[in-house]
Amino acid sequence: MGVHTPPGRRAFLKRAAALGAAAFLRPASGRGAAPSRFASYPFTLGIASGAPRPDGFVIWTRLAPDPLAGGGLDPFPVEVQWEVAHDAGFRRIAAKGNAIARPERAHSVHVEVEGLEPQREYHYRFMVGSDESGSGRACTAPRAGAPARLKLAFASCQQYEQGFFVAHGHLADEGVDLIAFLGDYIYESSWGSRHVRKHGTPPPRTLAEYRNRYALYKADAQLQKSHAAAPWIVTWDDHEVENDYANDRGETLDSTFLARRAAAYQAYLEHMPLRTSVMREGGEMRLYGRHEWGALATLHLLDDRQYRSHQVCAKPNRGGSNVVGPQCTARLDPTLTLLGTEQERWLDAGLGESKARWNLLVQQTLFSTAARVRENVRNYWTDGWDGYPAARDRLVQSLVDRRAANPVIVGGDVHATYVADVHARTDDLASPIVATEFCGTSITSQGPNAKATDALRAANPHIRYANGEDRGYVVLDIRPDKLEARLRAVATVKLEDAPVSTRASFEVAAGRGGIARG
Ligand code: FE
Ligand code: CA
Repeated sequence: MGVHTPPGRRAFLKRAAALGAAAFLRPASGRGAAPSRFASYPFTLGIASGAPRPDGFVIWTRLAPDPLAGGGLDPFPVEVQWEVAHDAGFRRIAAKGNAIARPERAHSVHVEVEGLEPQREYHYRFMVGSDESGSGRACTAPRAGAPARLKLAFASCQQYEQGFFVAHGHLADEGVDLIAFLGDYIYESSWGSRHVRKHGTPPPRTLAEYRNRYALYKADAQLQKSHAAAPWIVTWDDHEVENDYANDRGETLDSTFLARRAAAYQAYLEHMPLRTSVMREGGEMRLYGRHEWGALATLHLLDDRQYRSHQVCAKPNRGGSNVVGPQCTARLDPTLTLLGTEQERWLDAGLGESKARWNLLVQQTLFSTAARVRENVRNYWTDGWDGYPAARDRLVQSLVDRRAANPVIVGGDVHATYVADVHARTDDLASPIVATEFCGTSITSQGPNAKATDALRAANPHIRYANGEDRGYVVLDIRPDKLEARLRAVATVKLEDAPVSTRASFEVAAGRGGIARG
């Protein structure tokens, strides 16, 4: 640390002191592990669970006594104990074991717990030496084909500087079974106005820098509470790496981009409750996958960043997005793909095979057409599905052809809530409704004003609701006969204890596409 302690670190140290974190040397236990010394409490980044199946889930933590400066551990493996119990008091242990926190994975721990009962609530925690983590609540998915109900929350976009994670504090109290986080978990850059706190470091480029950025975010108490409340499933968007990146291409066309992406991908894995098998050959991170919730729901979790075609009609000497009119004919190129050919095929096959009552497409961004009309000309933002309209048409056709039951598309990215009917021909209201879309607003990241969202809605009548001024998340209560969506909005993100309320709610009846206002 230099003379100036960044505000983020100051706030963190204040919180750590408030938690009573001891700052004395403490030997780590560990049979077979090299000796290590913790200068202070190692569970500063909390705990998490994720990727639930009928027989288990992942539990995660990372040892980081000095989280904002590389973690603070010597480069030796450390043995960590874990427990999963039926009760919050840990009297009835369901499973336990040891795991090794390795320096090459930033001393993170990803335990794939197995052998649990389906559709049950569990509690978990970690121990190292005489230190104990907080405890978290997780639940297993229902057995294949079993009747079920699912309370699912989804959220996205949490620029740290623009607000406190007050929405996460409330999300933790919703009693949901599962939380889907749809990207922009960190922001690599500082932007926006009226900051309540600072990153305190320049945009990360190296593995060490991305680790420190994740640590800054994960030290947030309200985010930790949200992780501890329920298992998460996660996909990412651009800011986990760099604004508007596409596949192997960064926004500035920097020739070292793939090295930066590799660092960012690894740091992401180290900080998320993922199965480590997501890490594949050639630097691929296989986030897309299917999560089943009994007979009730199949969640098709998608990744629209890693495999996409480059954005068309970019600005001169740039990658990334643009807003383009009809002169950009490349936008209509049928070979453009947002998911990549392999993921498109995988999704099409999965929609055909799904026997679930509801099929949720869980992805990053606004699916529906959102033309921006300027002087009677329809313009489109090329970073989202509007930049890849042929790929969107293929997906809509796949929904029609595969007859997937009750498709519902959820998304984030655009820092505004959009509720839309997805028609067979996306901007033709006369064509049948084939899916319903709920694109949720951001946790903190600032969104468009009412003038902008009103204009968008007027120009795109399939969008039934638009609001860019709320920050919050969406809770879906999914039952066999209907899906209810509640838009939860916090009063402000500038105060850590701001209240939450329901801004609007909507219903989708099974067997009938389209939205009923609740
Ligand atoms: Fe965002
Ligand atoms: Ca984004």
